[in-house]
Amino acid sequence: MADRYQQFTKTPLGKFVVPKLGLPNPATLRRYRPGQPALEGPALLGAAPGGRLEKTVRAQLTEAGIEVISAPADRHAALVFDATGVKDPGQLREVYRFFHPVIRKVGSSGRVVVLGTPPELAEGRERIAQRALEGFVRSVGKELKRGATAQLVYVAEGAEDAAESTLRFLLSAKSAFVDGQVVRVGTHAKTAPTPENWEKPLDGKVALVTGASRGIGEAIAETLARDGAHVVALDIPAQGGDLSTVANRIGGSALQLDITAADAPAKLAEYLTSRHGGVDVVVHNAGITRDKTLGNMTEGGWDSVIAVNLAAQLAVNDKLLGDKILRENGRVIGVSSIAGIAGNVGQTNYATSKAGVIGMVNVGAPQLAEYGGTINAVAPGFIETKMTAAVPLFIREAGRRLSSLGQGGLPVDVAETIAWYANPASAAVNGNLVRVCGQALLGA
Ligand code: NAD
Repeated sequence: MADRYQQFTKTPLGKFVVPKLGLPNPATLRRYRPGQPALEGPALLGAAPGGRLEKTVRAQLTEAGIEVISAPADRHAALVFDATGVKDPGQLREVYRFFHPVIRKVGSSGRVVVLGTPPELAEGRERIAQRALEGFVRSVGKELKRGATAQLVYVAEGAEDAAESTLRFLLSAKSAFVDGQVVRVGTHAKTAPTPENWEKPLDGKVALVTGASRGIGEAIAETLARDGAHVVALDIPAQGGDLSTVANRIGGSALQLDITAADAPAKLAEYLTSRHGGVDVVVHNAGITRDKTLGNMTEGGWDSVIAVNLAAQLAVNDKLLGDKILRENGRVIGVSSIAGIAGNVGQTNYATSKAGVIGMVNVGAPQLAEYGGTINAVAPGFIETKMTAAVPLFIREAGRRLSSLGQGGLPVDVAETIAWYANPASAAVNGNLVRVCGQALLGA
């Protein structure tokens, strides 16, 4: 599973050879440890004239223990720019003026965050200017070095207070492998509760994680438990041993169930109601691949992938929402894939199912908003798991290197993104698809 090339770049020989030959030199990404400071250095905050977010953001960042400065320093852990005042393409120059003098002064694993107004909620020239920010941020993501990342956060008018969980996530080491992404806050709901303890935002909550016995699901279960949730870890009976090990380690419970079984939604509903009186967070992580090019694919290979990766999830959602087992301010979280965005040879079934997960989020967002909850999805890129370790060497190397961060992500990177969606303070984050892919070129 190890990225041997990246390990080599850190050896004395690697340090000598890699720059001489102009080879890729992936940075060691800063990752979250409990108790770690939000940022290792100051955040430079600026705004285009007339920006509506700067004041709130200054207060939120200060509250998070971040040193916010208004004049450039020698090094910045983050650059944050409120571009909501940009109402005309001509005013995009304000974005250039803020970033141009300081972009080379972003520290290792530094953060660039641009804040804007969702283009679809603006009109005419403002809409054009706000849409233009996407091209800026995605390019900055590609230019930044040493593990630094760039994101665009569109905050709807009136939702200024509801963006705090998103800012905390994107500025922190929790978003290590999220790069070049666009997040929308407040397009369905404009308010969000503030957790009493940002280190344990899921205290008292119950979270269901499917496919939790290993890989990414195991990391999700661990991360939600770290954040205070009681985790119901679900997997197929054949994975029962590993499942109990995970559940015991995190103080959760193990539920052996095949989610494609006809009676699975009813059994799950009964389990959650009788043991916990409901559920707050549902993470649809269980997924399978049955790769074959379309001409060689059997009907069974097609059906089984659609069943696990999409149909079972829809059936579970219908039951948990229909019977109001998902509690108020509840969360439904899907796991898509960049294959669902870009497509992939030998994966027509898988890519169809994963694009369907994006459809599930699109259709579900207004429904969940009405219900009093949210639905979002992550789209992992190349993540270092047993699944990707089995990929042929050259394809594996391409998967790692053809991205802005030049390496694969870790299961915990996907888990941290899910934990941000799960946070009660993310009540205004609905209908999003965020790639956890180190800004992979695939499908970009
Ligand atoms: P994995 O195969 O290690 O884990 C998937 C888990 O789902 C397994 O424990 C499996 O037993 C369980 N599962 C399968 N069918 C089930 C069923 N019918 N009922 C209940 N549980 C079932 O895979 P992973 O790499 O950890 O991937 C987790 C998710 O992330 C999947 O949805 C996958 O498609 C997605 N994903 C992974 C990557 C990657 O790089 N590893 C990239 C993009 C997306």
